[in-house]
Amino acid sequence: MLFGSVQGKEDLNPAEYLSGMIRIEHIGIAVKDLAAAEELYGKLLGCPSYKREEVASEGVITSFFKSGPNKIELLESTRPDGPIAKAIEKRGEGIHHIAFEVADIRAEMARLKAEGFILLNEEPKRGADNKLVCFIHPKSANGVLVELCQEIQ
Ligand code: ZN
Repeated sequence: MLFGSVQGKEDLNPAEYLSGMIRIEHIGIAVKDLAAAEELYGKLLGCPSYKREEVASEGVITSFFKSGPNKIELLESTRPDGPIAKAIEKRGEGIHHIAFEVADIRAEMARLKAEGFILLNEEPKRGADNKLVCFIHPKSANGVLVELCQEIQ
């Protein structure tokens, strides 16, 4: 989505046309022990996890929390060589990625690629929570793993 290219944009909320990156959808946190982390984050946020979901293709089991408008995704590896296990091995537990909701994931992927960002997948793939996702390599984003996600309609 380009600036000024949206027809009838005066009808839209500015956030819907000023940027294809609509909002932070969730923050992903890598954990070693999902059950223990769920208990801890339940206490921290004052509400229990509302959903667990395994993404077998990524070797990960996720658990989601909602705190007001904010969403936290806990991630535990289901295999020793999975991306979450590797991240914990390198950097320990902690913030793993920041996910942005996008209106049009393919358009954002093309825009970011043209801007020189390194995409970790060339095609959107199916992530947790009924989303199409794409990851941006942390070395092209100041050390932050960025996830783009778009709700599957
Ligand atoms: Zn995520």
